[in-house]
This record gives sequence, structure tokens and C-alpha cells, in this order.
Amino acid sequence: MQRIKKGDTVQVIAGKNKGARGEVLRVLPKEERVVVERVNIARKHQRPVQAGRGQIQPGIIEFEAPIHLSNVMIVCPECDAPTRVGYRVNEDGVKVRVCRKCNRDLD
Ligand SMILES: [Zn+2]
Repeated sequence: MQRIKKGDTVQVIAGKNKGARGEVLRVLPKEERVVVERVNIARKHQRPVQAGRGQIQPGIIEFEAPIHLSNVMIVCPECDAPTRVGYRVNEDGVKVRVCRKCNRDLD
């Protein structure tokens, strides 16, 4: 089971974006990385594009670069802090993620 899923709020715990929080937009399981909204912004230079009426679009695009899973932790809404993920089996027999600190369901 994945520790972090799309839609989770995570906090960066290491690296240059340490302390930044955002929503997980994409999980890249093979690379063990996640893309987090407005975190780890990178700039890519692009050939200028003709945008009509003779306007030239700036040749730089910004995008969220993937962050390694080991550098992010899920934020528990109850604790309002990064937390380790535990697991439990709910009433329907489904494995769900829980906060290790307060035992609140994270799914
Ligand atoms: Zn908690």
C-alpha cells in the first residue's frame, strides 16, 4: 500500500524546499517521487512561441519538479503536523492509513 497518494497534503522535511506544504498532484511510483502543488518549482527554457497578433510568449515555463518520497511526510489534519503513517483495517475490511500520533484516519 502506498504511503502517500494523490490528493494528500504533504510537507517537505528535507532539502531546499524544507517546510513547504502542498497537495500531491501526481505520484511516480517507479521513481519513488511525488509532484507537489507549487513546491520545488523549476524553470524550463523554451523556444519563444508566436501567440498571435505578433506577440511572443516568454520562453520560460515553470513547473513542479518531482520530489523524492523520502523528503516528504503526510500532514495529519488533526495534528496539523507531518506524521508517520500507520495502518489499520476498518469495519469494511479495508486497510486504511492512520496518523501514528493521534490515530486519526488519513484516507
Ligand atoms: Zn494526527
